[in-house]
Amino acid sequence: MPLDLSAIPIVDHHGHSLLRATGSITSATYPGFFTESGDAEMRARHASQTIFFRWAIKALASYFGCAATTEAVVAARGAMPPDALAARMLGDAGIATLLLDHGYQSSDTYSPAELHARVHLRIAPILRLEALAQDLIVRHETFDAMLEAFGAAVAGARATGYVGLKSIIAYRTGLEVQETPRAAAAAAFAAAKAQARRDGTLRLAIKPLNDHLLLLALDIAARDATPVQIHTGFGDDELDLRGANPLHLRPLITNERYARVPFCLLHAGYPYTRELSYLAAVHANVYMDVGLAVPYLAAGIPAMFRQALTLAPTSKILFSTDAYSIPEMFWLAARWGRWGLGVVLDEMIALGALETTEAIEIARDVLGRNAARVYGLPD
Ligand SMILES: [Zn+2]
Repeated sequence: MPLDLSAIPIVDHHGHSLLRATGSITSATYPGFFTESGDAEMRARHASQTIFFRWAIKALASYFGCAATTEAVVAARGAMPPDALAARMLGDAGIATLLLDHGYQSSDTYSPAELHARVHLRIAPILRLEALAQDLIVRHETFDAMLEAFGAAVAGARATGYVGLKSIIAYRTGLEVQETPRAAAAAAFAAAKAQARRDGTLRLAIKPLNDHLLLLALDIAARDATPVQIHTGFGDDELDLRGANPLHLRPLITNERYARVPFCLLHAGYPYTRELSYLAAVHANVYMDVGLAVPYLAAGIPAMFRQALTLAPTSKILFSTDAYSIPEMFWLAARWGRWGLGVVLDEMIALGALETTEAIEIARDVLGRNAARVYGLPD
């Protein structure tokens, strides 16, 4: 019997908002929420064939009290008003606080205030740097004006309620971030601006500019030790996983300039989980997140926690769901995350490495107290 951690409140330090409109979900489109692939054939044919999806259907069927089929689960969720479904599932997930990155699917999903009105948990926003930069490049004519606005927004983030910053640079130009001369960044701005003018929108992926802006944000974050979340490891099919190994970040992590920046490295770095556990074990400013790995790894979640806990101090591991779009993701991540951590802590107790009371304290740290401390959240 794994340790029962169900009563321990979760601080979900990295999650996304829920879709405004979910009325059109069918049993054919539902598996698409359970894959990181944007490929149509993957979503249509293979997303329903993972252990993750198959197990999720069984867990959700027992939650809804319906048959363990996709059709029955989709019918059961669809029979509830979306707001009631969200309030019930997030309530049952035992998530007390959610740090929300609203830079993903922004217009299709609820704003932090709208989400807070629907689900009864504390919500604090995270500022997504690339989304901010794209918006400012569209709005400003010169590099200097854009850079000044970017710096001001990042410097004012705390005062406007943000509790941390986030970068998805791994998706765009990789984690091998380099010092970039201002002139090179300005030239990249001209290219980005041309793209923005042509398309009316922008997906910023020009390495000198992405790198320059991230380093500027880190300089600002260092002033008041604002946590910076950086996507590492697996993600959707836009990502070149080779460039997403968290080891690429060592020059930043060990740079004196950023010594005070808490680097919250996301997704357990999966599959570079041992590498991330190592970084968290030797660098005071590195924290290891487990989101996305929880719930996606499903039956593999205990193995992930085993690797994380092999080197990283328990004070360095942060729980999150990285859930998005539908409330089921929060519920599954909370349920399987507590389960997987409980399995591994139980092994440590059996081994004689931990007392039961100690294991419970560790679970409280990993599931919430570490994040509360890193982000300076009120009790
Ligand atoms: Zn995320």
